[in-house]
Amino acid sequence: MRWAKRSRDAWVDRPGYGIYGIAQGSTFADLREESIRALEPMDFHGIAVGGLAVGEGQELMFKTLDDCEPHLPQHKPRYLMGVGKPLDLVGAVRRGIDQFDCVLPTRSGRTGQAFTWRGPINMRNARHQDDPRPIDEDCSCPACRNYSRAYIRHLHRADEMLGAMLLSWHNIQHYQDLMARMRSAIEAGAFADFEAGVVAGYARGDIDPL
Ligand SMILES: [Zn+2]
Repeated sequence: MRWAKRSRDAWVDRPGYGIYGIAQGSTFADLREESIRALEPMDFHGIAVGGLAVGEGQELMFKTLDDCEPHLPQHKPRYLMGVGKPLDLVGAVRRGIDQFDCVLPTRSGRTGQAFTWRGPINMRNARHQDDPRPIDEDCSCPACRNYSRAYIRHLHRADEMLGAMLLSWHNIQHYQDLMARMRSAIEAGAFADFEAGVVAGYARGDIDPL
């Protein structure tokens, strides 16, 4: 908190920039509350929830977000640091989180994992070898509009850089689409239905092989 205060005092306001205070406290509800309350008088532009997604598991992460929620300011953006998988994002938004950052879309793009509305798929698998369909029919990204699963699999198997580039492009588009659809669902007052639909899509799994 001493560092937070020093950072806040050193901050110079300028258009388009902001500074967030970071709430800590691991998975302890009392420490989380204490941390959030200590940040309040420093009047940061937003509040980050830090120290999660470090191996505690989704259930405990969600419980901690539930613990934090009543204490977080209503009028400031809330940022969950370093999260996460698509279902983590959906569950966190339901618990009042607005913003995220994560390496997963691009890291997975480099290792051959694609995120789809029917769950993650491994593009290196043999089942995609002769598959002319896109990674995700429901995606508007250039990788899905211009290239087949078979070609993207080939690129990854051959360690061609283009494979990582195309899959990263797709994964970032998927995350952007996910956030856009969550914003629309919130505006429409239909977030619970949206969440149920995403979970159902994951339960269906990938499209059947040809
Ligand atoms: Zn795509």
